Amino acid sequence: MIPITKPTIGEEEIAAAAAALRSGWVSQGPRVAEFENAFAAFVGAEHACAVSSCTTALHLALLAVGVKPGDEVVTVSHSFIATANSIRYCGALPVFVDIDPETFNMDPALIEPAITERTKAILCVHQIGMPCDMASIMTIAERHGLPVIEDAACAIGSEIRIDDRWERIGKPHGDIACFSFHPRKVITTGEGGMLTTNNAEWDSRFRLLRQHCMSVPDTKRHASAEVIFEGYPEVGFNYRMTDLQAAVGAVQLGRLPGFVEERRALARTYGALLSEIPGLGLPHEPAWARSNWQSYCVRLPPNCDQRHVMQQMLDAGIATRRAIMCAHREAAYPAANWSCAARAGGRCDCEAGTCACLRQSEVAQETAIVLPLFPGLTGEDQERVGEALARALTD
Ligand SMILES: *Cc1c(COP(=O)(O)O)cnc(C)c1O
Repeated sequence: MIPITKPTIGEEEIAAAAAALRSGWVSQGPRVAEFENAFAAFVGAEHACAVSSCTTALHLALLAVGVKPGDEVVTVSHSFIATANSIRYCGALPVFVDIDPETFNMDPALIEPAITERTKAILCVHQIGMPCDMASIMTIAERHGLPVIEDAACAIGSEIRIDDRWERIGKPHGDIACFSFHPRKVITTGEGGMLTTNNAEWDSRFRLLRQHCMSVPDTKRHASAEVIFEGYPEVGFNYRMTDLQAAVGAVQLGRLPGFVEERRALARTYGALLSEIPGLGLPHEPAWARSNWQSYCVRLPPNCDQRHVMQQMLDAGIATRRAIMCAHREAAYPAANWSCAARAGGRCDCEAGTCACLRQSEVAQETAIVLPLFPGLTGEDQERVGEALARALTD
Protein backbone atom coordinates (compact mmCIF):
# COMPACT_ATOMS: atom_id res chain seq x y z
CA MET A 1 0.00 0.00 0.00
CA ILE A 2 1.36 3.45 -0.93
CA PRO A 3 -0.02 5.99 1.60
CA ILE A 4 -0.94 9.55 0.66
CA THR A 5 1.76 10.93 2.97
CA LYS A 6 4.02 9.92 5.83
CA PRO A 7 5.73 12.20 8.35
CA THR A 8 9.53 11.83 8.31
CA ILE A 9 10.44 11.47 11.98
CA GLY A 10 13.80 10.02 13.00
CA GLU A 11 16.02 9.37 15.99
CA GLU A 12 17.00 13.04 16.23
CA GLU A 13 13.38 14.13 16.79
CA ILE A 14 12.89 11.34 19.33
CA ALA A 15 16.05 12.39 21.21
CA ALA A 16 14.95 16.05 21.21
CA ALA A 17 11.54 15.15 22.66
CA ALA A 18 13.20 12.97 25.30
CA ALA A 19 15.57 15.81 26.26
CA ALA A 20 12.59 18.15 26.67
CA LEU A 21 10.87 15.59 28.92
CA ARG A 22 14.02 15.17 31.02
CA SER A 23 14.49 18.94 31.36
CA GLY A 24 11.52 19.24 33.72
CA TRP A 25 9.97 22.05 31.62
CA VAL A 26 7.38 20.52 29.28
CA SER A 27 4.85 23.33 28.67
CA GLN A 28 5.62 26.52 26.68
CA GLY A 29 9.16 27.46 27.68
CA PRO A 30 12.73 27.88 26.43
CA ARG A 31 12.39 25.40 23.56
CA VAL A 32 9.37 27.24 22.19
CA ALA A 33 11.43 30.46 22.23
CA GLU A 34 14.32 28.74 20.41
CA PHE A 35 11.99 27.30 17.80
CA GLU A 36 10.41 30.73 17.25
CA ASN A 37 13.82 32.37 16.74
CA ALA A 38 14.94 29.69 14.30
CA PHE A 39 11.65 29.93 12.40
CA ALA A 40 11.79 33.74 12.12
CA ALA A 41 15.36 33.51 10.80
CA PHE A 42 14.39 30.80 8.30
CA VAL A 43 11.56 32.75 6.68
CA GLY A 44 13.19 36.17 7.14
CA ALA A 45 10.54 37.64 9.46
CA GLU A 46 11.21 39.95 12.40
CA HIS A 47 8.88 38.02 14.71
CA ALA A 48 7.57 34.47 14.98
CA CYS A 49 5.08 33.36 17.64
CA ALA A 50 4.31 29.66 18.18
CA VAL A 51 0.78 28.49 18.92
CA SER A 52 -1.17 25.25 19.16
CA SER A 53 -2.22 25.01 15.47
CA CYS A 54 -2.62 27.01 12.28
CA THR A 55 -6.32 27.32 13.06
CA THR A 56 -5.56 29.13 16.32
CA ALA A 57 -2.86 31.17 14.53
CA LEU A 58 -5.47 32.37 12.00
CA HIS A 59 -7.87 33.26 14.81
CA LEU A 60 -5.23 35.38 16.60
CA ALA A 61 -4.15 37.03 13.33
CA LEU A 62 -7.72 38.12 12.56
CA LEU A 63 -8.20 39.41 16.12
CA ALA A 64 -4.90 41.32 15.98
CA VAL A 65 -5.89 43.21 12.81
CA GLY A 66 -9.19 44.10 14.50
CA VAL A 67 -11.78 41.77 12.92
CA LYS A 68 -14.97 41.99 15.02
CA PRO A 69 -18.53 40.60 14.96
CA GLY A 70 -20.41 41.86 11.90
CA ASP A 71 -17.23 42.55 9.87
CA GLU A 72 -16.45 40.86 6.56
CA VAL A 73 -13.26 39.11 5.48
CA VAL A 74 -12.58 38.35 1.82
CA THR A 75 -11.25 34.81 1.38
CA VAL A 76 -11.70 31.59 -0.62
CA SER A 77 -14.23 28.83 -0.02
CA HIS A 78 -11.85 26.44 -1.81
CA SER A 79 -9.61 25.67 1.19
CA PHE A 80 -9.50 23.47 4.25
CA ILE A 81 -12.46 24.46 6.44
CA ALA A 82 -10.17 25.99 9.09
CA THR A 83 -9.68 29.08 6.88
CA ALA A 84 -13.38 30.00 6.93
CA ASN A 85 -13.88 28.79 10.51
CA SER A 86 -11.26 31.21 11.86
CA ILE A 87 -13.35 34.10 10.46
CA ARG A 88 -16.50 32.69 12.08
CA TYR A 89 -14.67 32.48 15.46
CA CYS A 90 -14.45 36.30 15.31
CA GLY A 91 -18.18 36.54 14.62
CA ALA A 92 -17.34 37.88 11.15
CA LEU A 93 -18.66 36.84 7.75
CA PRO A 94 -16.40 35.17 5.16
CA VAL A 95 -16.99 36.63 1.69
CA PHE A 96 -15.86 33.93 -0.72
CA VAL A 97 -14.21 34.67 -4.06
CA ASP A 98 -13.47 32.12 -6.75
CA ILE A 99 -10.11 30.61 -7.65
CA ASP A 100 -7.90 30.73 -10.70
CA PRO A 101 -8.43 27.21 -12.10
CA GLU A 102 -4.74 26.95 -13.11
CA THR A 103 -3.25 27.46 -9.66
CA PHE A 104 -6.24 26.64 -7.39
CA ASN A 105 -5.49 29.95 -5.62
CA MET A 106 -7.57 33.10 -5.05
CA ASP A 107 -8.16 34.96 -8.33
CA PRO A 108 -6.98 38.53 -7.54
CA ALA A 109 -9.28 39.98 -10.24
CA LEU A 110 -12.28 38.92 -8.13
CA ILE A 111 -11.23 40.58 -4.86
CA GLU A 112 -12.24 44.16 -5.56
CA PRO A 113 -15.92 43.45 -6.37
CA ALA A 114 -16.15 41.55 -3.05
CA ILE A 115 -15.00 44.52 -0.93
CA THR A 116 -17.72 46.45 0.93
CA GLU A 117 -17.64 49.08 3.68
CA ARG A 118 -17.74 46.19 6.19
CA THR A 119 -14.58 44.50 4.83
CA LYS A 120 -11.80 44.45 7.47
CA ALA A 121 -9.20 42.09 5.99
CA ILE A 122 -8.19 39.81 3.13
CA LEU A 123 -7.32 36.22 4.08
CA CYS A 124 -5.51 34.55 1.17
CA VAL A 125 -4.29 30.95 1.05
CA HIS A 126 -1.11 29.45 -0.44
CA GLN A 127 -3.07 26.34 -1.33
CA ILE A 128 -1.23 23.01 -0.96
CA GLY A 129 2.04 24.94 -0.88
CA MET A 130 1.63 26.84 -4.18
CA PRO A 131 2.24 30.55 -3.51
CA CYS A 132 -0.71 32.78 -4.37
CA ASP A 133 -0.27 36.00 -6.35
CA MET A 134 0.86 38.23 -3.46
CA ALA A 135 1.99 41.10 -5.73
CA SER A 136 -1.52 41.54 -7.18
CA ILE A 137 -3.26 40.92 -3.84
CA MET A 138 -1.10 43.51 -2.05
CA THR A 139 -1.74 46.15 -4.75
CA ILE A 140 -5.49 45.79 -4.20
CA ALA A 141 -5.16 45.64 -0.39
CA GLU A 142 -3.08 48.80 -0.31
CA ARG A 143 -5.57 50.60 -2.53
CA HIS A 144 -8.31 49.83 0.03
CA GLY A 145 -6.19 50.08 3.20
CA LEU A 146 -6.90 46.45 4.13
CA PRO A 147 -4.56 44.16 6.09
CA VAL A 148 -3.63 40.87 4.42
CA ILE A 149 -3.30 37.61 6.34
CA GLU A 150 -1.67 34.68 4.56
CA ASP A 151 -2.93 31.19 5.35
CA ALA A 152 0.43 29.54 4.77
CA ALA A 153 -0.59 26.31 6.56
CA CYS A 154 0.90 24.20 3.76
CA ALA A 155 3.54 26.61 2.46
CA ILE A 156 6.57 26.35 4.72
CA GLY A 157 9.63 26.27 2.43
CA SER A 158 7.72 27.61 -0.60
CA GLU A 159 9.19 30.66 -2.29
CA ILE A 160 7.96 33.66 -4.22
CA ARG A 161 9.88 36.05 -6.51
CA ILE A 162 9.52 39.66 -5.42
CA ASP A 163 11.52 42.38 -7.23
CA ASP A 164 13.74 39.70 -8.82
CA ARG A 165 14.61 38.12 -5.48
CA TRP A 166 13.40 34.73 -4.28
CA GLU A 167 11.97 34.99 -0.77
CA ARG A 168 10.41 32.40 1.49
CA ILE A 169 6.71 32.50 2.25
CA GLY A 170 6.33 33.92 5.76
CA LYS A 171 8.64 36.95 5.43
CA PRO A 172 5.67 37.88 5.37
CA HIS A 173 4.55 39.39 2.07
CA GLY A 174 1.19 40.34 3.54
CA ASP A 175 0.92 41.56 7.15
CA ILE A 176 0.80 38.25 8.99
CA ALA A 177 1.48 34.67 7.82
CA CYS A 178 0.13 31.56 9.61
CA PHE A 179 1.72 28.10 9.39
CA SER A 180 0.71 24.57 10.39
CA PHE A 181 2.78 21.69 11.76
CA HIS A 182 0.03 19.09 11.41
CA PRO A 183 1.39 15.73 10.11
CA ARG A 184 -0.22 16.34 6.68
CA LYS A 185 2.10 19.35 6.20
CA VAL A 186 5.77 19.40 5.22
CA ILE A 187 7.19 19.44 8.78
CA THR A 188 5.33 18.37 11.90
CA THR A 189 5.16 18.80 15.66
CA GLY A 190 2.08 16.54 15.94
CA GLU A 191 -0.14 19.60 16.23
CA GLY A 192 1.23 23.13 16.12
CA GLY A 193 1.23 26.49 14.39
CA MET A 194 3.27 29.67 13.93
CA LEU A 195 2.50 33.34 13.21
CA THR A 196 5.09 35.55 11.52
CA THR A 197 4.95 39.32 11.21
CA ASN A 198 7.16 42.40 11.09
CA ASN A 199 4.77 44.31 13.37
CA ALA A 200 6.07 44.22 16.96
CA GLU A 201 2.71 45.31 18.40
CA TRP A 202 0.83 42.46 16.76
CA ASP A 203 3.50 40.01 17.88
CA SER A 204 3.03 41.16 21.52
CA ARG A 205 -0.71 40.81 21.05
CA PHE A 206 -0.33 37.17 19.87
CA ARG A 207 1.83 36.42 22.93
CA LEU A 208 -0.77 37.83 25.30
CA LEU A 209 -3.79 36.24 23.62
CA ARG A 210 -2.23 32.76 23.40
CA GLN A 211 -1.73 32.77 27.18
CA HIS A 212 -5.07 34.05 28.60
CA CYS A 213 -3.74 37.65 28.38
CA MET A 214 -1.72 36.84 31.50
CA SER A 215 0.25 40.01 32.38
CA VAL A 216 3.35 38.13 33.60
CA PRO A 217 4.04 34.77 31.92
CA ASP A 218 4.86 31.72 34.04
CA THR A 219 8.43 31.59 32.62
CA LYS A 220 9.08 35.05 34.08
CA ARG A 221 7.54 34.26 37.46
CA HIS A 222 9.56 31.05 37.60
CA ALA A 223 12.81 32.95 37.06
CA SER A 224 12.03 35.76 39.51
CA ALA A 225 13.62 36.11 42.95
CA GLU A 226 10.65 38.15 44.07
CA VAL A 227 7.03 37.10 44.40
CA ILE A 228 5.04 38.37 41.41
CA PHE A 229 1.24 38.36 41.06
CA GLU A 230 -0.04 38.23 37.49
CA GLY A 231 -3.19 39.95 36.20
CA TYR A 232 -5.72 39.13 33.48
CA PRO A 233 -6.90 42.41 31.92
CA GLU A 234 -8.77 40.73 29.01
CA VAL A 235 -10.30 37.41 28.02
CA GLY A 236 -7.62 35.44 26.16
CA PHE A 237 -7.12 31.82 25.12
CA ASN A 238 -4.96 28.81 25.81
CA TYR A 239 -3.35 28.49 22.36
CA ARG A 240 0.13 27.55 23.59
CA MET A 241 2.60 25.18 21.96
CA THR A 242 4.48 22.87 24.34
CA ASP A 243 8.26 22.55 24.68
CA LEU A 244 7.90 18.89 23.66
CA GLN A 245 6.45 19.98 20.33
CA ALA A 246 8.95 22.81 19.85
CA ALA A 247 11.87 20.45 20.46
CA VAL A 248 10.62 18.22 17.63
CA GLY A 249 9.84 21.26 15.46
CA ALA A 250 13.37 22.67 15.75
CA VAL A 251 14.83 19.41 14.43
CA GLN A 252 12.23 19.23 11.65
CA LEU A 253 12.98 22.82 10.64
CA GLY A 254 16.66 21.94 10.24
CA ARG A 255 15.69 19.11 7.90
CA LEU A 256 13.16 21.18 5.95
CA PRO A 257 15.45 22.29 3.07
CA GLY A 258 16.27 18.63 2.40
CA PHE A 259 12.58 17.66 2.53
CA VAL A 260 11.67 20.42 0.07
CA GLU A 261 14.48 19.45 -2.30
CA GLU A 262 13.28 15.85 -2.32
CA ARG A 263 9.64 16.87 -2.80
CA ARG A 264 10.62 19.05 -5.76
CA ALA A 265 12.47 16.14 -7.36
CA LEU A 266 9.43 13.88 -6.82
CA ALA A 267 7.16 16.52 -8.39
CA ARG A 268 9.45 16.75 -11.45
CA THR A 269 9.33 12.95 -11.81
CA TYR A 270 5.51 12.97 -11.63
CA GLY A 271 5.46 15.76 -14.22
CA ALA A 272 7.48 13.68 -16.69
CA LEU A 273 5.59 10.47 -15.91
CA LEU A 274 2.06 11.82 -16.04
CA SER A 275 2.39 14.17 -19.02
CA GLU A 276 1.76 11.13 -21.24
CA ILE A 277 -1.73 10.51 -19.82
CA PRO A 278 -4.23 12.08 -22.23
CA GLY A 279 -6.57 14.72 -20.78
CA LEU A 280 -4.95 14.76 -17.34
CA GLY A 281 -4.32 18.28 -15.98
CA LEU A 282 -0.93 18.68 -14.30
CA PRO A 283 -0.15 21.31 -11.64
CA HIS A 284 0.81 24.77 -12.85
CA GLU A 285 3.67 26.61 -11.12
CA PRO A 286 3.75 30.30 -12.15
CA ALA A 287 7.19 31.66 -13.17
CA TRP A 288 7.32 33.73 -9.95
CA ALA A 289 6.51 30.80 -7.63
CA ARG A 290 8.32 27.76 -6.28
CA SER A 291 6.08 25.30 -4.49
CA ASN A 292 7.24 23.06 -1.65
CA TRP A 293 4.90 20.41 -3.16
CA GLN A 294 3.05 19.78 0.09
CA SER A 295 0.62 17.96 -2.23
CA TYR A 296 0.72 16.94 -5.87
CA CYS A 297 -2.66 17.76 -7.33
CA VAL A 298 -3.90 16.57 -10.74
CA ARG A 299 -7.11 17.43 -12.53
CA LEU A 300 -8.98 14.44 -13.96
CA PRO A 301 -10.18 14.63 -17.57
CA PRO A 302 -13.70 16.06 -18.07
CA ASN A 303 -16.65 13.69 -17.45
CA CYS A 304 -14.49 11.42 -15.36
CA ASP A 305 -15.98 9.85 -12.19
CA GLN A 306 -13.69 11.08 -9.40
CA ARG A 307 -14.87 8.53 -6.83
CA HIS A 308 -14.51 5.66 -9.32
CA VAL A 309 -10.93 6.65 -10.23
CA MET A 310 -9.99 6.96 -6.56
CA GLN A 311 -11.56 3.57 -5.76
CA GLN A 312 -9.72 1.90 -8.66
CA MET A 313 -6.46 3.32 -7.35
CA LEU A 314 -7.24 2.24 -3.79
CA ASP A 315 -7.93 -1.29 -5.12
CA ALA A 316 -4.49 -1.14 -6.77
CA GLY A 317 -2.93 -0.28 -3.37
CA ILE A 318 -2.57 3.47 -3.85
CA ALA A 319 -4.13 6.04 -1.54
CA THR A 320 -5.40 9.27 -3.09
CA ARG A 321 -7.54 12.10 -1.68
CA ARG A 322 -9.99 14.58 -3.09
CA ALA A 323 -7.84 17.66 -3.47
CA ILE A 324 -9.47 20.65 -1.77
CA MET A 325 -12.91 21.06 -0.25
CA CYS A 326 -15.30 24.01 -0.61
CA ALA A 327 -16.48 25.42 2.73
CA HIS A 328 -19.67 26.88 1.21
CA ARG A 329 -20.87 23.35 0.36
CA GLU A 330 -20.69 22.08 3.95
CA ALA A 331 -23.60 21.92 6.39
CA ALA A 332 -21.63 24.19 8.75
CA TYR A 333 -22.00 26.94 6.13
CA PRO A 334 -25.67 27.63 5.46
CA ALA A 335 -26.20 30.74 3.32
CA ALA A 336 -26.43 32.98 6.43
CA ASN A 337 -22.83 32.12 7.40
CA TRP A 338 -21.06 33.41 4.30
CA SER A 339 -21.41 35.70 1.34
CA CYS A 340 -20.07 36.17 -2.19
CA ALA A 341 -19.24 39.22 -4.30
CA ALA A 342 -22.57 39.17 -6.12
CA ARG A 343 -24.55 38.64 -2.91
CA ALA A 344 -22.75 41.55 -1.24
CA GLY A 345 -24.13 43.63 -4.13
CA GLY A 346 -27.55 41.98 -3.81
CA ARG A 347 -27.23 40.09 -7.10
CA CYS A 348 -26.77 36.42 -6.16
CA ASP A 349 -29.30 33.93 -4.91
CA CYS A 350 -26.87 31.11 -4.26
CA GLU A 351 -28.41 28.10 -2.58
CA ALA A 352 -26.91 25.67 -0.11
CA GLY A 353 -24.17 23.78 -1.93
CA THR A 354 -23.85 25.89 -5.01
CA CYS A 355 -23.04 29.46 -6.00
CA ALA A 356 -22.60 30.77 -9.53
CA CYS A 357 -19.75 33.01 -8.32
CA LEU A 358 -17.77 30.00 -7.07
CA ARG A 359 -18.01 27.79 -10.16
CA GLN A 360 -14.26 27.20 -10.55
CA SER A 361 -13.97 26.24 -6.87
CA GLU A 362 -16.78 23.70 -7.23
CA VAL A 363 -15.37 22.22 -10.45
CA ALA A 364 -11.92 21.91 -8.85
CA GLN A 365 -13.40 20.08 -5.86
CA GLU A 366 -15.17 17.66 -8.19
CA THR A 367 -12.28 17.00 -10.60
CA ALA A 368 -8.98 17.28 -8.70
CA ILE A 369 -7.25 14.56 -6.68
CA VAL A 370 -3.93 14.48 -4.84
CA LEU A 371 -1.40 11.69 -5.33
CA PRO A 372 1.05 10.23 -2.80
CA LEU A 373 4.11 12.45 -2.29
CA PHE A 374 6.49 12.35 0.68
CA PRO A 375 10.23 12.00 1.30
CA GLY A 376 11.12 8.35 0.84
CA LEU A 377 8.65 7.71 -2.01
CA THR A 378 10.66 5.79 -4.63
CA GLY A 379 10.76 6.13 -8.40
CA GLU A 380 9.26 2.65 -8.56
CA ASP A 381 6.36 3.78 -6.33
CA GLN A 382 5.78 6.77 -8.62
CA GLU A 383 5.70 4.52 -11.69
CA ARG A 384 3.11 2.35 -9.96
CA VAL A 385 1.03 5.46 -9.19
CA GLY A 386 1.26 6.58 -12.83
CA GLU A 387 0.31 3.16 -14.19
CA ALA A 388 -2.62 2.78 -11.78
CA LEU A 389 -3.90 6.24 -12.66
CA ALA A 390 -3.64 5.59 -16.44
CA ARG A 391 -5.49 2.29 -15.97
CA ALA A 392 -8.19 3.84 -13.74
CA LEU A 393 -8.84 6.48 -16.42
CA THR A 394 -9.36 3.97 -19.22
CA ASP A 395 -11.63 1.65 -17.18
C1 LIG B 1 -4.14 22.27 7.41
C2 LIG B 1 -4.68 23.59 7.09
C3 LIG B 1 -5.14 24.46 8.09
C4 LIG B 1 -5.26 24.04 9.54
O1 LIG B 1 -4.05 23.73 10.14
P1 LIG B 1 -4.07 23.12 11.63
O2 LIG B 1 -2.66 23.28 12.07
O3 LIG B 1 -4.48 21.68 11.49
O4 LIG B 1 -5.02 23.89 12.43
C5 LIG B 1 -5.58 25.72 7.73
N1 LIG B 1 -5.57 26.12 6.45
C6 LIG B 1 -5.14 25.33 5.46
C7 LIG B 1 -5.14 25.84 4.05
C8 LIG B 1 -4.71 24.02 5.73
O5 LIG B 1 -4.32 23.22 4.74
